Amino acid sequence: MAEVNMEKWALITGASRGIGRAIALELARAHQLHIIVNYASNADAARSTADELAALGVRTYLAPFDVRDAQAVTAGIDGWRAANPGGRIEVLVNNAGVTRDNLMVFMKPEDWHTVIDIHLNGFFNVTTAVLQGLVRQRGGRIINLVSLSGAKGVAGQTNYSAAKSGIIGATRSLAQEVAKRGITVNAVAPGFITSDMTKDLPVDQLKALVPMGRFGTPEEVAGVVSFLVSPAAAYITGETIHVNGGLHA
Ligand code: NAP
Repeated sequence: MAEVNMEKWALITGASRGIGRAIALELARAHQLHIIVNYASNADAARSTADELAALGVRTYLAPFDVRDAQAVTAGIDGWRAANPGGRIEVLVNNAGVTRDNLMVFMKPEDWHTVIDIHLNGFFNVTTAVLQGLVRQRGGRIINLVSLSGAKGVAGQTNYSAAKSGIIGATRSLAQEVAKRGITVNAVAPGFITSDMTKDLPVDQLKALVPMGRFGTPEEVAGVVSFLVSPAAAYITGETIHVNGGLHA
């Protein structure tokens, strides 16, 4: 009989850049997980993340799909499964995201819907595509990237706050649904982190608001995700961990 090779994989959405890329590298380095690198359109950045992962000795699979498109999500995961028949997804990190900031009085419907769609419906599409497998395996970790904005609220981000707040609620409910199956579901809520998402913000003005006086790094967020993946975090579920330099809700 052919040997069954139960390779452990993590699916990280939005792993081409920023926080997702840092999480991919940390999960590979600290947990030797093979990584499914999802992204939307930036193939060069995704390939460069995959090259860095390969240098750490893990396997990678590039999975370009838009998390808004449930059929594309399923097709992307099916493609990975066909290429890696012995693999199993043990960790899902819902990280893909965008902002379309504006005061609500000026907000265009498309900016509301794009942000809700990518964050909240993306969370639904990707999580449902992976969840049955985790339940059958009776174990796994789901980690959702949310935001200070979803806990505290930030003027100019009603769309983003609504989406992230929704994911915090879904994290708590899903955690209760799957706890008996050995699956933990947690959220990580960054404050201001240096990445493409924040590169056009008035950094000097904003960092003055942060008790630590600086933006965080993607690696500082990745470290918390890595902890939540570790056996040490086995009894933590439904929780939101803030990573914000003291800029609290
Ligand atoms: P980023 O540097 O702008 O990277 C965004 C990532 O999401 C990219 O990999 C991008 O892929 C992917 N993406 C965007 N739309 C997608 C879609 N529809 N389908 C699939 N992938 C998509 O952002 P970041 O700063 O790393 O943020 C990562 C997460 O942390 C987000 O959920 C964000 O809301 C959250 N967060 C960030 C901060 C911060 O200060 N940076 C603070 C709080 C929370 P492409 O490269 O192909 O475009």
